[in-house]
Amino acid sequence: MSEQHRIESVEVTRERVLQRIRDDSRFVLAAHESPDGDALGSLVAMQGLLTALGKDSQMFIAAEDLPLPYEYRFFTLDGLIQAPPPDIAQRTVVFLDCGNIDRNSAIVLQQGRHLLNIDHHHDNTRFGTLDHVVPDASCTAEIVWDLMHGLGVAPTAEVAQALYVGLITDTGRFMYENTGPRAHEMAAELIGAGVDVQAVYRRLYEEMPPAKIALLALALGQMQRFDSGELTLAALSAEDFHEAGAQDSYSEGIIDHLRAVQGTKVAALVRELCGGERSGQRKVSLRSTDDDVDVSQIAREQGGGGHRRAAGFTTTLEVAPLIEFLRGALAEQLHATSNGPATATVA
Ligand code: 5GP
Ligand code: MN
Repeated sequence: MSEQHRIESVEVTRERVLQRIRDDSRFVLAAHESPDGDALGSLVAMQGLLTALGKDSQMFIAAEDLPLPYEYRFFTLDGLIQAPPPDIAQRTVVFLDCGNIDRNSAIVLQQGRHLLNIDHHHDNTRFGTLDHVVPDASCTAEIVWDLMHGLGVAPTAEVAQALYVGLITDTGRFMYENTGPRAHEMAAELIGAGVDVQAVYRRLYEEMPPAKIALLALALGQMQRFDSGELTLAALSAEDFHEAGAQDSYSEGIIDHLRAVQGTKVAALVRELCGGERSGQRKVSLRSTDDDVDVSQIAREQGGGGHRRAAGFTTTLEVAPLIEFLRGALAEQLHATSNGPATATVA
């Protein structure tokens, strides 16, 4: 095993990351594809941190991920690049909220001088030359916030807002099991630094395009329950997106409604991807309601990953075999002694 893959304690990797940031002068920041609130919030906050330290930093977001979903368009993306810079070999690349390297499409970023992998996914594949993986952190933004303290930089209102977006989106507005005292301490400090809580809430969770509600209605209208309701699932086709007039990202949040259904152990949202190269593939989002099921394990079986209670993968499977796979995987974890999925199906 090479030196960089020796797993060191979080205290040690924290110090090494702080030192690397102090020592290096040129950076590129990147997150996972289809970036969510934590990926973008961490990216924007890290950009603000490095700029405050007088570093030359660029934020990479792939052209296919732009424009951002409407709820994140308020971020000012100073230093945005859509193609890796020509001097990549002289830059330190910081991957944020990226559980594995395949989740970022720009292979050329791996040519960076150093690869800092800053993340909170427990199944992070530790692809960096320096891996700072903190599974106890509620979100990657919490790790960036901690580094900010380590470097003695106070967040501007804009950086505070970016960190707050990462925090509330990854903790389900402080309702998921990853919400601990630290998440609330972080919120208190960020609000003190100028976050307008109501304005952020309105941008992220209200002001929805009507097409998003139309898509939600289609999903709820075709919700299916399997195995005495332990699996609650909805599958949205490209046609559904077309009918609702919805973009890919409008499915965000639908899965929370599926998980809320009584008796659900695992909620799954399957959506057919419409855009270019990804068309014909399906993106599967999984959520579990308690510790009885680790959905990241199910996702890893299909080449994806995530957290115990929130994970996902992309597949070329059709909906029917996909449902059978999910039922089987769920039964394996819930009823380890039985011979496969239970047969009862609830309408
Ligand atoms: P979502 O369902 O909101 O897209 O993702 C939920 C969680 O699963 C996030 O933590 C995300 O990083 C992870 N996740 C979703 N899709 C994938 C995937 O294709 N690969 C990996 N490794 N993780 C994923
Ligand atoms: Mn995250």
